[in-house]
Amino acid sequence: MTKKPQFDRIAIIGAGLIGSSVARAIVRAGAAGTLAVSDRDQDVLQEAREIGFADEFTADAAEAAKDADLVVIAVPVGAMAAVGDVIAPALKEGAIVTDVGSVKEAVFKALDPILPKHVHLIPGHPVAGTEQSGPQAGFASLFDGRWCIITPPEGVNKGALNKLTKLWEAMGSTVEIMTAPHHDLVLAITSHVPHLIAYNIVGTASDLEEVTRSEVIKYSAGGFRDFTRIAASDPTMWRDVFLSNKDAVLEMLGRFSEDLTALQRAIRWGDGDALFDLFTRTRDIRRRIIDAGQDEEAADFGRHHED
Ligand code: NAP
Repeated sequence: MTKKPQFDRIAIIGAGLIGSSVARAIVRAGAAGTLAVSDRDQDVLQEAREIGFADEFTADAAEAAKDADLVVIAVPVGAMAAVGDVIAPALKEGAIVTDVGSVKEAVFKALDPILPKHVHLIPGHPVAGTEQSGPQAGFASLFDGRWCIITPPEGVNKGALNKLTKLWEAMGSTVEIMTAPHHDLVLAITSHVPHLIAYNIVGTASDLEEVTRSEVIKYSAGGFRDFTRIAASDPTMWRDVFLSNKDAVLEMLGRFSEDLTALQRAIRWGDGDALFDLFTRTRDIRRRIIDAGQDEEAADFGRHHED
């Protein structure tokens, strides 16, 4: 006998890297009776249809969300409110609405006033991704062994939270619950500031006059190329992340700048011990990330995926 799906109908709004990966992971888990996918971009929709990772494809987000027990919004953070406006009138009583945005407090503040009170808004963020965009880039195993952070509002419906947690677990993730402001602070240092540093160093290198661009590319294996992978990430998505997680990013950037000044001083004064101590500590952090199963020894550049 086949197992009953966790949800009768799931709608995913946004069929890019993350939306299409969620769709594939839901299909792999057999978690939806019917899976509807919506994207405003006709080309993206056509690609999604050709790949075939859902039962229904539509440009109308409200049509996808109608009668859905769960709606997953997978668009850039700055577009969440626009999607909320469109789907709000179509949402059925008791539906769960979640998202996959990289910033959590701003998303909750954007959606909470728009959505009807009879739905359960429970934001989430799978801490998994690549520098690619679009439905071709997605794959079912993206969330395997990765964290998914859920940031339930105060007074959340426990049954709804439990259902959402079970779904992410079925998609391969381990769920962690925290408040939205704490999520934004943690992600500012683990993801947002590292991306800003990558964007900045690649920008600086491309502006140099005394070192030619062809030299930068030719000798990139010296460390630069790993920054270029991160700096190739989607411009719309990352613009929205920095605009909507401003306070936490500025706080972490302040600390980063102070530490950078200390390093600058150590280099200027020839303080080899300070440099050696820091580099030893950072090597240990890399080891702990590998031990925690969050990366592998193999060089990460040009990651490949099995499907
Ligand atoms: P993506 O590949 O660029 O896909 C986003 C899709 O949403 C695009 O097809 C876009 O269409 C569509 N869209 C934008 N506004 C829309 C609207 N108002 N209505 C319907 N569709 C709309 O982006 P992604 O990487 O999947 O990111 C989606 C979300 O996941 C973001 O909030 C991001 O912060 C989060 N996230 C990303 C990663 C990552 O590594 N990429 C990891 C974790 C979480 P257009 O092209 O027409 O704009």
